Amino acid sequence: MPSVRLMVGVILPFASFILCAQTPVEPVRQWRVKHQSEILKGFTELLSIPNVAADPANLRRNADTLVLLLQQRHFDARLLTAAGAPAVVFGEHKVAGAKRTIVFYAHYDGQPVTPSEWTSPPFVPTLREVDGEQRIYARSAGDDKAAIYAQLVALAALEAAQIPMRANIRFIWEGEEEAGSPHLEEILNANRDLVHGDVWLVCDGPVDQSRQQTLVFGARGDAHLEITVYGPSHGLHSGHYGNWAPNPAMMLAQLLAGMKDAQGRVLIPHFYDGIKPLGNLEKKALSRAPVNDDKLREEFALGHVDGGGAHLLDLLNLPSLNINGISSGQTGASSTNVIPATATADLDLRLVLGIDWREQQNRVVDYIRSQGYYVVETPPSRDVLLQHSKVALIKKDAAGYNAARTPMDLPIAQDALTAVEAARGPVIEWPTMGGSVPLGAMERAAQTHTITVPIANHDDNQHSSNENLRLQNLWDGIETMASLLCMR
Ligand SMILES: [Zn+2]
Repeated sequence: MPSVRLMVGVILPFASFILCAQTPVEPVRQWRVKHQSEILKGFTELLSIPNVAADPANLRRNADTLVLLLQQRHFDARLLTAAGAPAVVFGEHKVAGAKRTIVFYAHYDGQPVTPSEWTSPPFVPTLREVDGEQRIYARSAGDDKAAIYAQLVALAALEAAQIPMRANIRFIWEGEEEAGSPHLEEILNANRDLVHGDVWLVCDGPVDQSRQQTLVFGARGDAHLEITVYGPSHGLHSGHYGNWAPNPAMMLAQLLAGMKDAQGRVLIPHFYDGIKPLGNLEKKALSRAPVNDDKLREEFALGHVDGGGAHLLDLLNLPSLNINGISSGQTGASSTNVIPATATADLDLRLVLGIDWREQQNRVVDYIRSQGYYVVETPPSRDVLLQHSKVALIKKDAAGYNAARTPMDLPIAQDALTAVEAARGPVIEWPTMGGSVPLGAMERAAQTHTITVPIANHDDNQHSSNENLRLQNLWDGIETMASLLCMR
């Protein structure tokens, strides 16, 4: 149908000129201001439905409610299910002639609650004023029903203002994120045609501490291993055997101390090999991002920091090695004069693009071997301990994953940035967040790229008692979502 194609080709530039001149932000804001009390009532109703993993019946009520709310907005909505898992809420709106499909991800489940620690009950949403601003207090007010509700309000406002969507829009609202998303990849794989998109906008988490809108283009990967080294077969009198029986706590301390220099740089061979360097856009974005290092040093009472003078945001773009904990013998009141039998440390490896999580675990294991340790994967027998001068039991945690990063120069990334800037003005862009999110699993299953669009305030007490959302973050988030929903 060449004539239709031609017509579209002729009309689109003109139409896009009109729509660009008139972003959806202003009409959406006007609608929101006019309907503010209804919006708050609707948000309160959604927050009133308990959403913790231990309460599957209410999780299902959340999911059913969200399907209904999407259907009221003329979305084709339903539940995607897997045995033993809370349902994923799926919604879709197709636009004739659309060139792209944009998927909005968020989660409707929340962290467990301890009601006695809350000022008002976690599922009785309550408004309170903080520093002259209104906030709503309830579990998931910030993490992550804020994003879902901002999207629902944005849809209603766009419809009222008769502003059409121009891309196909899909929603994937998960109900198991706070439990580590154990079934997400399975559900996505079983519904590949439904979950695919040109981009997944991961609408979760808080914006920068400055309250400026933030876009995040990736997350670090994560891997763990546990190391146990061995001294005598049972605790020995430190007077009778000191200077002779090797102390595993000391052995482990020496082993770990060899892994880093005084600046915190990891000395394990090949630890930094393969890192995919940042591109020019990423470097520029980092150089524009606010440097909060001095403020944070003050906040955490740090007399010195690692990194040889590099900024925190730059260091987050390198892999890291952290000791999560060490244990051996006893301290304090239960301390005894003993040479302990074992010493154990848990290591956490954060990963950046270009480094495979299993390979990074192996680099650490190779280093331990190079220090004279015989490495075993199951607890060693007496014979093994007698045959080798030093033995290390290493448990490589099987639940790791790689980093993911969406190149900032992709057209879709630039379009998303433009859309958010139209709503919120200048945006802070981070090539990656320091923490880990299994973005890779989403990208594999949905064959897409991810960009994280947080809207909550950083001081929202997410995962803790008295979780809250600053209402201004909701109002701003509605405009951000409306702008993204109108992307071409
Ligand atoms: Zn979340």
